[in-house]
Amino acid sequence: MTKRRKLAAGNWKMNGLGADLDQIARLDAAHPAPGCEVLICPPATLLERMSAAARGTAIMTGAQDCHPAASGAHTGDLSVAMIADAGASHVIVGHSERRADHGETSADVRAKAEAVMAGGLVALICIGETLDEREAGRTLEVIGTQLRDSTPDGAGADTLVVAYEPVWAIGTGRIPTLEQIAEVHGFIRAELGARFGGETGAGVRILYGGSVKPGNAAEIFGVDNVDGALVGGASLKAEDFAPIIAALQES
Ligand code: PEP
Repeated sequence: MTKRRKLAAGNWKMNGLGADLDQIARLDAAHPAPGCEVLICPPATLLERMSAAARGTAIMTGAQDCHPAASGAHTGDLSVAMIADAGASHVIVGHSERRADHGETSADVRAKAEAVMAGGLVALICIGETLDEREAGRTLEVIGTQLRDSTPDGAGADTLVVAYEPVWAIGTGRIPTLEQIAEVHGFIRAELGARFGGETGAGVRILYGGSVKPGNAAEIFGVDNVDGALVGGASLKAEDFAPIIAALQES
């Protein structure tokens, strides 16, 4: 059986100033040698400083978005090479907030993920249904289409992480039932196997994201094919993120 290394990923979104970088030392003090991978994706303004603060710890850093091009006239955007130069190892692409706020399509997400992989970093691709789509019974159809259209052909277990994030669970305090999470994660696992073959399909990590908190992490991590979490609000403070990491280690 393929052993997948678990991943606790934090998405700080548009939160965090220099004064908040002490969260890295606090997290490191709580988990100096975590039994899982730990990643934090701060806003771009903090990426280089956070990478420096995390040097010598087990904590990895990532960006929240990138541009697919290597360079050029793209005001406000960051290339993968710039992100790598800031010390990051991962890039979140296709977060539902970017799909909604910036009109990103799955084709855009795929182009970004291709650039991430070509640049030697790991693409953390987010997919998830809206509440209307779930209530219309379209969850697996939507997830299947987003997964197919957002992931590059050459993806491998070392270059791709998929995050299942139901849009209606992000920042709302609501989570799907454990059966609903199991159904979607099992479906994504099967789709990855059909698309990329057995070894890659079994090796790609699938994270759950959406209102993961210290109080619900253990039960979510007990679900089949949940290889970790993408955590928003509860990743901002080490006192919240550390128990989530502990729950993942123990799962
Ligand atoms: C997210 O931003 O990806 C997320 C899951 O947010 P939250 O944990 O706050 O719901």
